[in-house]
Amino acid sequence: MHMTHYICTGGCGGVSEKEGTCQAITCPKHGVPLTACDCADGKHEGKQDRDAKEEAEKNKKA
Ligand SMILES: [Zn+2]
Ligand SMILES: [Zn+2]
Repeated sequence: MHMTHYICTGGCGGVSEKEGTCQAITCPKHGVPLTACDCADGKHEGKQDRDAKEEAEKNKKA
């Protein structure tokens, strides 16, 4: 059994049970609609990881 949930792919790691937008003010995707995900293992099929890694790369250079 799994539930559809909504994740932020901006790197803040935000997860919501309801559809909505990212609430993390420091997140690059603040105010951007969350991405629907229905994974059962909490890994979000790598959706969150991939973008978070990109953010980490940016932060490294800055
Ligand atoms: Zn976010
Ligand atoms: Zn998920």
